[in-house]
Amino acid sequence: MAKRLLLETDKRLLWKLSYTMGFKGMLSVIKHKRRVKKGIFFPPFLHISIINSCNLHCQGCWVDVKAKQAKLDVDRMDKMLCEAKAVGNAYFGILGGEPFMHKELITVFERHPDAYFQVFTNGQLITRDIARKLRRCGNVTPVISVEGSQTISDQRRGGSDVLNRTMQGVQNCVDEKLFTGVCSSLCQTNFEDFLQESWADKLIEMGVMYMWFHTYRPIGPDPCPELALTPEQQKRVREFVVNMRVKKPIGIIDAYYDHKGQALCPAVTAASHHISPYGDIEPCPIIQFSKEKIDDERGLYETFTQSKFLQDFRTLAAKNTRGCIVLEHPDLLKQLAEKHGARDTTVRNTAFPELDALESRPSQDTPGYQVPEKSWAYRLAKKYFFNDFGAYARVTAND
Ligand code: SF4
Repeated sequence: MAKRLLLETDKRLLWKLSYTMGFKGMLSVIKHKRRVKKGIFFPPFLHISIINSCNLHCQGCWVDVKAKQAKLDVDRMDKMLCEAKAVGNAYFGILGGEPFMHKELITVFERHPDAYFQVFTNGQLITRDIARKLRRCGNVTPVISVEGSQTISDQRRGGSDVLNRTMQGVQNCVDEKLFTGVCSSLCQTNFEDFLQESWADKLIEMGVMYMWFHTYRPIGPDPCPELALTPEQQKRVREFVVNMRVKKPIGIIDAYYDHKGQALCPAVTAASHHISPYGDIEPCPIIQFSKEKIDDERGLYETFTQSKFLQDFRTLAAKNTRGCIVLEHPDLLKQLAEKHGARDTTVRNTAFPELDALESRPSQDTPGYQVPEKSWAYRLAKKYFFNDFGAYARVTAND
């Protein structure tokens, strides 16, 4: 992996990644850990859905992609990013809809050279020219979602020629030496295709630097529960990821396990929370309930750290599972939203009935089953910079 970073990358981009994402990212987590010790919770990793619109229409998508376009304009982004940077944040996840449908997206990156942006995209709008502009910015890593074979991609994403257009986006990014990632939502229709060494080898050959396996979450207006993975399949994903990390020269990200292999929810640990295209502050992208907005006159930091809804969410989820409360206890989540009088932040206004319709199902937490990291690098990185930050022990101690 070190050889690839040295030989395959643009050194200016490698420096930006190492310093802004790596070093400053670590500092932001250290600040988070210090705040947590004082009972103060402000996420070092903000995930921001900058626009709702998308050129695709995926199964299991929770975003109102076909509703009237809503987006966070440059001024609101500037204010939010500056407030978050003021408390040490350096990394920002940019989601949608499809972020590259936002005409000012690159302006946002240009105006914040001291921050690093990971853009979750379907890649279809990343032309060679856009990739060139991203290279000029130097502070952007696109993580492009690939969801299956040609047929499966069209089916999963509600489009045509989806795979080719997405892979062209990947190629444009790699040709411009961007630090490029590929992610997939593992489900019944792509599981056996992606949980293969050959898939990792293909991405390495293409020049992709990291991969990320999400597990399909059957939520939203078109949940397709038949696509969800079984607990046995989720275990296979965890084992595959841990084994490939010591075998393949490609980064493999996950956001659901610590160095011991214990499951966690990044919203419960306050490592990450979400901002909707309407400026709503939400526990995470798929929990579309909110009590606060980014425009609150108290300012972003106070609004987050004083949120009773977010605090009660973290406590409730930590008390009931180390996994995903949306999947395992949708009923409890509904009660919490009702108790706080939280707004349904969807345009379709069906977030409550969608929760009602959800059946409880297993998520990333399989009590008694843990696969610790084999790689010393991931073990160290997670041990000090990505774990539960004491969230679950705190709840048990307070009981
Ligand atoms: S609630 Fe579920 S989907 Fe949201 S961050 Fe936690 S584990 Fe992930």
